[in-house]
Amino acid sequence: MGLLRGFLAAVASIALQRNEIREQAKMKDQDSSAGLAKFEHPQITANGESRARVRLNNPQTLWFNTGTLCNITCNNCYIESSPSNDRLVYLNAGEIADYLDQVAERRWPVREIGFTGGEPFMNPQMIAMARVSLERGFEVLILTNAMRPMMRGSMREGLVELQKKFGDRLTLRVSVDHWSAANHDAERGKGTFEKTLTGMKWLRDAGIRMTAAGRTVWGETDAEARKGYAVLFAKHGFQIDARNPADTVLFPEMDAKADVPEITSDCWGILGKSPDDVMCASSRMVVKRNGADKPTVLACTLLPYTPEFELGETLAAAEGEVYLNHPHCAKFCVLGGASCSA
Ligand code: SF4
Ligand code: SF4
Repeated sequence: MGLLRGFLAAVASIALQRNEIREQAKMKDQDSSAGLAKFEHPQITANGESRARVRLNNPQTLWFNTGTLCNITCNNCYIESSPSNDRLVYLNAGEIADYLDQVAERRWPVREIGFTGGEPFMNPQMIAMARVSLERGFEVLILTNAMRPMMRGSMREGLVELQKKFGDRLTLRVSVDHWSAANHDAERGKGTFEKTLTGMKWLRDAGIRMTAAGRTVWGETDAEARKGYAVLFAKHGFQIDARNPADTVLFPEMDAKADVPEITSDCWGILGKSPDDVMCASSRMVVKRNGADKPTVLACTLLPYTPEFELGETLAAAEGEVYLNHPHCAKFCVLGGASCSA
């Protein structure tokens, strides 16, 4: 009997130790006084504070994701585009026109229509979608790698026609990850730098306004990176101001797994920032998911696959507040200052 009691006590003690270890691991994971893990509850942080939120107070840019297919597969593409990723399918000009009608109905003060992908020129209706936006008086920004999809005859003809008719209201923002061929190709594949330069030279000769987007993954200072771009642009006669952050946008690398603090309502005051400066205060993005009947509106361009940031099928449904419940919100918008617009 004593032996059995001793055995049971030993079993109970092991079970207790295991529970303790489990609890400790859980506490470590959660780092929480509210019993929550970070980014678990939409409105409350792990510490039990109210999560920061942003209202759409001045919609200036409406983005359309033209589809996630891309002609290349870059390292760390934030939207995981590739020649086979069709999670977001092609939008068409009729769908764009429908949302532009809604912009007018809702009296959104939109200035700019942005097109992003994937590679937007993979979409056969890219020119028609840009045209319908320009005809309504908007500025149009198309993000592109300026490679083969843009260089197809039909796209070049369309771009020339749009430039003649609408001039500098059309801008193409070309991704040049780094000013050196070696670093650009390391991210995008061998030979991509030269192909992008070929596209940019064509844009230069056609008089189409361009800007550039790069990355900051090589440990350079901002000034060093801009100096490198300035030399590259001058060498080829590209009219892009490398020192102007709106003309040469440098994006921080996106690491979704990096540990970042949550943003509470009090953070705005502590950081001296305003919720109105964050991208989701001034923009929304329309996407069409594979298999869906209709497009839907997302809070921003940075979180295309997170259901919590999907706001509804209409612009009316997308006018609500956005709770900053994602590491990207902290790292890129509130702490890092990322922007997806020119
Ligand atoms: S070109 Fe742009 S969309 Fe295509 S894989 Fe590279 S980063 Fe992604
Ligand atoms: S990632 Fe930035 S723009 Fe998107 S919802 Fe978060 S704070 Fe807003």
